[in-house]
Amino acid sequence: MKRYISRRDAEAQRHREKQRENRVFYIFIVSAQPYDEKNSVIVNANSLTSAQPPDMYSGLDAQKKYIERIKNIRVLAGNRDWSREYELYVFSALISKLPPSFTSCTSEIRRDEVGIKSKKAAGWVDMDSPPPVIHLTDIGANSGCLDEIFIHEMTHCFQMKHRDITQKWKDKFWGWFSPNTPSVTDYGNSAVVEDMAESVKKYWSDGPWLQSNFPDRYEFIKTYIMNGKEFGKNDL
Ligand SMILES: [Zn+2]
Repeated sequence: MKRYISRRDAEAQRHREKQRENRVFYIFIVSAQPYDEKNSVIVNANSLTSAQPPDMYSGLDAQKKYIERIKNIRVLAGNRDWSREYELYVFSALISKLPPSFTSCTSEIRRDEVGIKSKKAAGWVDMDSPPPVIHLTDIGANSGCLDEIFIHEMTHCFQMKHRDITQKWKDKFWGWFSPNTPSVTDYGNSAVVEDMAESVKKYWSDGPWLQSNFPDRYEFIKTYIMNGKEFGKNDL
């Protein structure tokens, strides 16, 4: 376990130096949450098979290979490159736990500097332009909740492929302009598609909380979006 910590620290140090050179203020989130505490996949790295995601230090190529060849999602650069293993590691680990019926709705992930509509965006999907592509921004990548951003955006990809289920969500939970009962987050109150994306995010990050506070949304997601698969708290 120590080997991982020291390698992580070395990587963090290299990263800080690089960022200082670029004169960019930046928080390296790895130092805030040690991986060995967060994810047992790291500890069990030796037992990984091709069906399982590569561990944090397998290298960018291994992460890309898993995402592209095993999960059939293209990994492309936008106006940033996927240069940090951590970002693709989180994505690999996340999609390894989600049902294929959900992950297969995402065609591509791209890395961009900022959002196109808002400079504060953590990520986005242009839902009017197929194929479904997730864009991750610098803000999203440095947010400390990368998995939650990915699954929120993956839900928009799901919505692109399943307009019928999105309509069913609208019919069940929304009136003309607002949800029948407040959404799981303030942002979720802004639109039907954001309500669903925020709810799926909570289903992933804290399923028991969603189940007890929003049982109808929980059951809907379990039945129509997650193909019956359930998650505990902080499953990644
Ligand atoms: Zn959204």
